[in-house]
Amino acid sequence: AAAEDALKRLVVDVSDYPKPGVVFKDITPLLADHDGFTAVVQALAAAGRDAAGNVVIDKVVGMEARGFMFAAPVALALGAGFVPVRKAGKLPRDTFSESYALEYGDATIEIHKDGVAPGERVLVVDDVLATGGTVAATRTLIERCGGVVHSVAVLLELTFLPGREAVADVPLLALEQV
Ligand code: 5GP
Repeated sequence: AAAEDALKRLVVDVSDYPKPGVVFKDITPLLADHDGFTAVVQALAAAGRDAAGNVVIDKVVGMEARGFMFAAPVALALGAGFVPVRKAGKLPRDTFSESYALEYGDATIEIHKDGVAPGERVLVVDDVLATGGTVAATRTLIERCGGVVHSVAVLLELTFLPGREAVADVPLLALEQV
């Protein structure tokens, strides 16, 4: 309940950003509120534990850029490592690369080939699930490393978009649905 309250209070709708007709969810007031940020990180971390509270994942993967801000503290909360998925050209060593369609054009994201080891179980954390393209491409990157996506955790799921269907066979924790 603390996390839900924090999301309602501290995620701000910005109309017509980044373009007319889009309502952008601004999470920066949440980041600036220690209690709210803590509550949300704790709630996301639950996706990496079993019913008895045991940690059941090896790595937390977060996507550039807002995913980093939540995935890294979730990794610390779980005693797990953090692995970044970045936009093309930003990671310095050998990478796997995946491209996916955006509304206009496409995006390419990358992971270090040794970022996730074969057999490792991974929790994927991002701020907003919209079309699901980012999460689906991230899942492919993790599987190309030999890892297994245990679950996906996001702050907000935009339910007017089919994001959940993009990862239908993986458990999805959304702290709030809008
Ligand atoms: P998708 O790939 O699911 O269509 O889009 C999700 C990605 O776009 C996430 O990485 C998320 O950070 C970003 N995103 C899309 N819409 C919003 C929004 O309204 N607010 C924020 N903070 N991020 C968004």
